[in-house]
Amino acid sequence: MQARMTIEDIDKEFFFHPFTHVREHERVGPLTIVEGHGSTLTDTRGRAYLDAMAGLWCVNIGYGNAEMAETLRDQTERLAYYHTFASMGNEPVARLAQRLIAMAPGSMSKVFFGNSGSDANDTQVKLVWYYNNVLGRPEKKKIISRDRGYHGVTVMSGSLCGLPNMHAGFDLPLPMVHFVRAPHRLWEAEPGQSEEEFVQGLADELERLILAEGPDTVAAFIAEPVQAAGGVIVPPKSYFPAIQEVLRKYDVLLIADEVVCGFGRLGQNFGSEVFGMTPDLITVAKGITSAYIPLSACLVSESVWDVIASGSDKYGVFSHGYTYSAHPLAAAAAMTNLDIIERDGLIPQAKARGERLAERLRAEFGDHPLVGEVRGDGLLGAVEFVRSTDPLTAFDPALKVAPAVVRRSRELGVISRALPAADTIAFSPPFVVTEAEIDEMAAVARRALDDVAAELR
Ligand code: PLP
Repeated sequence: MQARMTIEDIDKEFFFHPFTHVREHERVGPLTIVEGHGSTLTDTRGRAYLDAMAGLWCVNIGYGNAEMAETLRDQTERLAYYHTFASMGNEPVARLAQRLIAMAPGSMSKVFFGNSGSDANDTQVKLVWYYNNVLGRPEKKKIISRDRGYHGVTVMSGSLCGLPNMHAGFDLPLPMVHFVRAPHRLWEAEPGQSEEEFVQGLADELERLILAEGPDTVAAFIAEPVQAAGGVIVPPKSYFPAIQEVLRKYDVLLIADEVVCGFGRLGQNFGSEVFGMTPDLITVAKGITSAYIPLSACLVSESVWDVIASGSDKYGVFSHGYTYSAHPLAAAAAMTNLDIIERDGLIPQAKARGERLAERLRAEFGDHPLVGEVRGDGLLGAVEFVRSTDPLTAFDPALKVAPAVVRRSRELGVISRALPAADTIAFSPPFVVTEAEIDEMAAVARRALDDVAAELR
């Protein structure tokens, strides 16, 4: 019986998909990808798709890289695994830690490795709690996040998300997590408000929250440089300096979630550099290996490290870590990935392709009556759909306009992504994307919007 099942049948029968509407999946089944090369994916029927999202904002060097295959094979033969508990080490991971500290902004000191962005943000919160316990401040534990933030799916990382769909049905967020507004001018700025006034309003809101909760109870603020999954929200350049002034005043640590922005997507190694952030802790994942194998890391600043290190006098062994923390295969893959990015000039290339993407999205969507905003930074782009631009009116979410555009784009051979918090589609292609591929992504998305709009009338 099972021998005659197609791969799609087997998938429907046995595979519990993440972030998937279960009933819809039972009806339509999967799109099963069998191959990837550069920016192109191929499905079981041999149909090719341009991947405008680099998977989930992560395959930065593109699919099918032979050097990565060689590294993974070589490292598998030499040492596929050994743990790093109780002072055990391996060579790739020590070298990778050294390299990350050399690359990172600010004065970072140590690297803790995990397997996903979610577990890394969970670790960050534990580090912050541990830090305050060592300092004898057991009350200073609350974490402030932002509406539209995306930080993962574990119990704590899911709590840090400012996206209602991440909480519904899961009894989240945890009570020690609080939220402030996102720096999203389109919806959050008052009419006629200057950028300076808008930013000041957000900094004041943060200060009011810290004062209302009690500065002695607020431990950290977590933020993506550009909020990716929340809508590709690009903050004004003065935003993070103003926010950090407040954080410093109340001794609140800054965690920069660089899971999407890190390793070049915004045209520099880290988004923190682009937006004037001086984080105490940095979370990376995705682009560290271009997703060839799972890896995440928490970078810890010198001042935080000094406190954590002194914690061993109080607590003994630092009792946190995963079986796969500092996995040698992942570390070797990260080293080769970073070598490729450096040697092939992929960060300047990402910047140049990002300019092309912005230009093409503006050309295709800039004057469209159903487009509220075209935005982006580096090789991240987004188009937000609205019922009307004057007055600015959102679509009824039940119409699911962005998902319909993404569905139609896929039929036309381009995979983009509808973001949950707004009627927005995102573009985050591999750094190796060609100009012609970018033009095709934007043109297909425009055709898809026109087709969807015709049905809306
Ligand atoms: N942080 C950010 C900014 C992300 O975009 C994501 C995933 O998209 C995560 C954290 C969670 O990473 P993971 O899916 O590897 O757990």
